[in-house]
Amino acid sequence: MSALLQPHALSPAMPADRLGRPLRELRLSVIDACNFRCGYCMPADRIADDHGLDAASRMSFDEIETLVRGFARLGVHKLRITGGEPLLRRDLPSLVARLAQVPGIDDLALTTNGSLLARHAHALRAAGLQRITVSLDALDPTLFRALSGGRGEVADVLDGIAAAEAAGFGSLKLNCVVQRGVNDGEVEALAARFRGTPHVLRFIEYMDVGTCNDWQPARVVPSAELHARLHARWPLRALDAQYRGEVAVRHAWADGAGEIGFVSAISAPFCGDCHRARVSADGRLYTCLFAADGDALRPLLAGGETALAGHVGGLWARRADRYSELRGSPAATRRHVEMFLIGG
Ligand code: SAM
Ligand code: SF4
Ligand code: SF4
Repeated sequence: MSALLQPHALSPAMPADRLGRPLRELRLSVIDACNFRCGYCMPADRIADDHGLDAASRMSFDEIETLVRGFARLGVHKLRITGGEPLLRRDLPSLVARLAQVPGIDDLALTTNGSLLARHAHALRAAGLQRITVSLDALDPTLFRALSGGRGEVADVLDGIAAAEAAGFGSLKLNCVVQRGVNDGEVEALAARFRGTPHVLRFIEYMDVGTCNDWQPARVVPSAELHARLHARWPLRALDAQYRGEVAVRHAWADGAGEIGFVSAISAPFCGDCHRARVSADGRLYTCLFAADGDALRPLLAGGETALAGHVGGLWARRADRYSELRGSPAATRRHVEMFLIGG
């Protein structure tokens, strides 16, 4: 049973924030470099080719392990490794093996663009990785290449998905960020491709993250619109959430061909149950995807996991973020951390 379904009393060691939300999940970036330049995240004309390649600015594996142990003491049971592109981090499977041993972490996942997955899937599985999410915004090779900033090939991502299946990752999540007039024509093709497989395709509303993607509301395709389109072609049936705070709203294909999800941060914000913290590769804590600044945790790591947990617990207790509910209002922050620094 997921820890979120279990009744729990919050102890001082497992703090709630000012809106009563516990800390349950950590999204940890292991690198802020990427081999893609997706326009909605890291556009090539704004982010230099060599961005993020300074290894000294990254936490070491020892520091990361101490950090994760500290977060686990605060009630974090779910850990997602992300980037930039996490598979660019050298020797990632050995870090996964260390994090898989941390007491309390019962769900260890990775988000990747999939381009390098074919060569790493087996080692990641052997190291104890439990789940993989692959980003996949288009099946059309020309469109895919353009969306990746001219750097990615959809065939490599599909090879990565096949390699993950072969390595024993039974059901993958496949994330598609939909932009109107850009890749909204790919929705049915993606659905057709993954219906009847164990994989869960998730359509994500294009978000106003970071500062460099020139986000426009007109580019957002509301999930309700996509649901109506897909339902007209292949009827859908709503499913219950698996746990409180689940980000994607789940639906099953009524003909039994599997499951899809919708992540609707723009049309239906889910701040009320947001139990996620993010830490960048250089060890800064962000309590919201849209935070302006992070708190530097790296200096505390030399003091060990208990000191780290005490400090983070205090920061979490002061948290009152709910940007997506405030979007467009004067109270909403204008400056946001870049998505490629905290990984989604
Ligand atoms: N490089 C990896 C990848 O692309 O999967 C991991 C990091 S990436 C920042 C994590 C996720 O954020 C990806 O699924 C990506 O599609 C999503 N993302 C990036 N910018 C976004 C935006 N503006 N709106 C919605 N999702 C976004
Ligand atoms: Fe790289 Fe992922 Fe951002 Fe695309 S979404 S630029 S793959 S970090
Ligand atoms: Fe959580 Fe911030 Fe997103 Fe709201 S806007 S769901 S608080 S990360």
